[in-house]
Amino acid sequence: MEQSSYRIKGATGDWEVVVGLEVHAQITSNAKLFSGASTAFGAEPNSQVSLVDAAMPGMLPVPNAECVKQAVRTGLAIGAEIHRWSRFDRKNYFYADLPQGYQISQLFHPIVGEGAITVTTDEGTKTIGVERIHIEQDAGKLMHDQHPTMSYVDLNRSGVALMEIVSKPDMRSPQEAGEYVRKLRQLVRYIGSCDGNMEQGSMRADVNVSVRKTGDVFGTRTETKNVNSVRFIQTVVEIEARRQVDVIEGGGTIVQETRLFDPDKGVTRSMRSKEDAHDYRYFPDPDLLPLVLTEDFVAECAASLPELPDTKRARFTDALGISAYNADVLTADVDTANWFETLLAEGVEGKAAANWVTGELFGALNRLGRDISDSPVSAAHAAELLKLVGDGTLSGSMAKTVFEKMLETGDGAGAIVEREGLKQTSDTGAIDAAIADILAANADKVAEYKGGKEALFGFFVGQTMKAMAGKANPKLVNERLRELLASA
Ligand code: ADP
Ligand code: MG
Repeated sequence: MEQSSYRIKGATGDWEVVVGLEVHAQITSNAKLFSGASTAFGAEPNSQVSLVDAAMPGMLPVPNAECVKQAVRTGLAIGAEIHRWSRFDRKNYFYADLPQGYQISQLFHPIVGEGAITVTTDEGTKTIGVERIHIEQDAGKLMHDQHPTMSYVDLNRSGVALMEIVSKPDMRSPQEAGEYVRKLRQLVRYIGSCDGNMEQGSMRADVNVSVRKTGDVFGTRTETKNVNSVRFIQTVVEIEARRQVDVIEGGGTIVQETRLFDPDKGVTRSMRSKEDAHDYRYFPDPDLLPLVLTEDFVAECAASLPELPDTKRARFTDALGISAYNADVLTADVDTANWFETLLAEGVEGKAAANWVTGELFGALNRLGRDISDSPVSAAHAAELLKLVGDGTLSGSMAKTVFEKMLETGDGAGAIVEREGLKQTSDTGAIDAAIADILAANADKVAEYKGGKEALFGFFVGQTMKAMAGKANPKLVNERLRELLASA
């Protein structure tokens, strides 16, 4: 796919939207970027603040190797160039949630260079360029109270490690922007470098939007800050593009500015005119040495990466013969993928397992309002169930009954089958005996069947299954009935 067909209709014709995203992702780490304070979510305000995070005079930052490792792993996961030499810079500004008076970031020499993320939309597959990934500190949080008018600051987030993942201005529609963020979230969750939780703010995006007539040079962009859901990101692209077209066609010009999204009103509002890098008086942080990575460190990061979603998906379809749709569903998030991998590791056949997970299991989880990560039936227990179906011990309908009991009790399939005497019988002698009784008791129907009323076959199957208390192997019952009826 070269270009998206998404267009904004204007009085002067169609306009194209150009989108670039700066995604801030909180790095998964127990400690902050330059201090040992905890990063746990939801703690009492100001209970997780070290002297470094509070910017007490004379305190020195010490980089957390775990955070560096996660940024490198993320870079590797998007096929990016890893910079073995990078450096921290101070971004100077005054705000009450920033006690240092500067944010430690990486402007001139980011740790990760160019990479790419492939997205799939209704229009096909497209590669979106990533400009860079750098590491930086988060700021604290301000809380405002109206009665009386007071502002409070919580420094728990102060110093928490973030990755800023900066895309190229390669997206051309709300859907592409949404898919890009979904894909990025899927990746960081797979590799465990960020929990991807947008509601809790561990992932949020600055949405850069401009419009142009197709083929023109890029227009002036606005940047809408801190958008915290995929849906909101898409909405911002839509409404900001519409607004810009209206401004330009109304004779106005777009100013490069920072805007805020108001989800309740569905509008973006101007917050401040956009600063340029020089406004922040960036300079290398004199408290920190350049970050130099050894080849071994990078190799260790690479070796620690799990199979990535695209590769996994391809393996599911190509090697296991799972449908493209099921493979998509099963690899969409890391919890589902791991659950499914457990079934495979237990020796369950891939296609049958895929159908069962996307059908039976998801249906049950939906009904119960649960995620796969807290499924009442464990993957090991599910594997046991599927193997009992695979070897003919359970029929499909018995498996449904056993699964229901597994959901209720959390017990394993084998235990339930034992307890309830639910084994399917493939004992030909017992089946033949039951059939003989039924044919003898229904001589009239046998005669009608032989006279051409083939629909009666279902009646005989039903009677046999009933006589066998539902436990006969249905395939065998069918086979034996055909034979015994023919010779009756
Ligand atoms: P800054 O550092 O001033 O924020 P960058 O050049 O690093 O500027 O770009 C920031 C983001 O804005 C990037 O994601 C980039 O893709 C995006 N961007 C740049 N130019 C445009 C444009 N004309 N329209 C939309 N997005 C843009
Ligand atoms: Mg920026």
